[in-house]
Amino acid sequence: MCMEKTPWERAVEFHGHVCMGLALGFRVAEAAMGALGSMRDVDEQMIAIAENDSCAVDAIQVITGCTVGKGNLILRDYGKQAFTFALREKKKAVRITEKSPARLNQEAVSALREKIAAGNASDEDKANLKEMSDEMVKDYLAKPLGEVCSVTEITYDIPEKARIFPSVTCFSCGEKVMEPRARLQDGKAICIPCAGNYERGWGK
Ligand SMILES: [Zn+2]
Ligand SMILES: [Zn+2]
Repeated sequence: MCMEKTPWERAVEFHGHVCMGLALGFRVAEAAMGALGSMRDVDEQMIAIAENDSCAVDAIQVITGCTVGKGNLILRDYGKQAFTFALREKKKAVRITEKSPARLNQEAVSALREKIAAGNASDEDKANLKEMSDEMVKDYLAKPLGEVCSVTEITYDIPEKARIFPSVTCFSCGEKVMEPRARLQDGKAICIPCAGNYERGWGK
């Protein structure tokens, strides 16, 4: 008999480790689906924009089904724990930001991390850190959503569905490149990495 994994377990399995970033993404995904009244995305009816590329993004992919590969998870490298989610059919969008509630064991965990970074930690310290960090995440996951993130309804203004483009062959390396990403040099299509090497690669 194998027990079905919980959504959190699936997120951890995909991401590889348990961390606060993953927990944040998990709560944001929960809040988004609640606010939009949506199920997990199948075919791009939902779209997500993440303003960072942190651990949180992995939980969002697993839980909401918005993924980088499908093109309905867009990463904007602004370094902000802020996320926008929208439903195409309902033309409804929400922006979700992190509230940073007080964390269980925060001070003890920080002190132990410093000890480890300084190379002064015993095996017992390391085991304690793991235990306290796990408790911190567990506590965070159990908090009411309203304490963890704030959700604001915003105007729907979302990019169109991912399109499929023809490819062209790069004149320099011979590999295929999506047409809108190709550059033209001396009337020949070349890919972005080759365009960067133009001077050397073309022996001018
Ligand atoms: Zn992580
Ligand atoms: Zn090339």
